[in-house]
Amino acid sequence: MGLRHADTWGRRRRSLDLCALLCLLVVSVASAAEDVYQETRGPFTIHYGPRTRVDLDRIIDFLTAGREQLCGALGLEDPRPVDVTLCETAGEFDEALGFDAPWFYAGVAFADEREMVINLPVAALELKQVLTHELCHIYLSDALGDRLAVVPRWMNEAIAKSLSDEWNESEDILLRDAVLAGHLLDFEQIERSFPAEHRASTIAYAQSATFLEFAESRYGPGVLGRYLAGVRGGRSHGAALTDACGVPLTVVQEEWLTYLRKHYRKVLLLYRIDELIFFVMAVLVVAAVIATVRRRRRWEASQSHADRELPPSMVSPEHPRPCQDRQGKRRIHS
Ligand SMILES: [Zn+2]
Repeated sequence: MGLRHADTWGRRRRSLDLCALLCLLVVSVASAAEDVYQETRGPFTIHYGPRTRVDLDRIIDFLTAGREQLCGALGLEDPRPVDVTLCETAGEFDEALGFDAPWFYAGVAFADEREMVINLPVAALELKQVLTHELCHIYLSDALGDRLAVVPRWMNEAIAKSLSDEWNESEDILLRDAVLAGHLLDFEQIERSFPAEHRASTIAYAQSATFLEFAESRYGPGVLGRYLAGVRGGRSHGAALTDACGVPLTVVQEEWLTYLRKHYRKVLLLYRIDELIFFVMAVLVVAAVIATVRRRRRWEASQSHADRELPPSMVSPEHPRPCQDRQGKRRIHS
């Protein structure tokens, strides 16, 4: 009994040891899953998980270049430090944001917290542009302070997109289709929030960016600087933009729409011309192949006809095959 008790106790000890080991493992795994590394370089602190495969030097280079470009454009001298959280999966991204983001979100900026969260798989192809875009939202808040509230969402995105040189082919195609079909969004619709659906959201970003870029090119460089100065000075968004362009906002919008329609009609026409040229070339190739086949058949027919005209002894294996010379005279190869 005593031995049996000791044996039971020994087994219990082993079970307890095993439990402790398992608990230790679970705690270790849980803490490893929650581990976040961070590295501070200059005005940026990068946060990333153990599974994040990232080239920090490259990220810092992009951020540093973006900072320099944005400071010049927004009139900032030495903005305060910014935290950058890099996420390897959509789950990590949602967790870092605290909400479920649409699948196409590449990054989100929290200007008040001076933090940006980057969804690496989505941002990968345009990482430099995405980092600069999110940084721009934070620096724009620095540049305008409380006056940022008068800037509509579309203008905020237009500035971020324009200054980050963020543009890709799919945006161009979606904007082209929306312009030609008359499906652009009213700016009032995107004054405070953007659509959650991918296509509409892409069009909203693209039309906002092209509006600002058109204003800069049509009414001279410096439109953005004058607009920001106007907002800082207490002007409303509409008044500041009107002052910056020198014409009423309705005129700017009308001219921008006319420009977009002309531009995309021309693009579509060139595209159609390309298609037409390709079609004509394809028809010419097919016609050439058919003509060659027909010539070959005619030549074979004339040869068999010539063979039939010769006496049987002339086409016997002992004699060479007759053919036509350039003057059409039959000759014999020797
Ligand atoms: Zn943005």
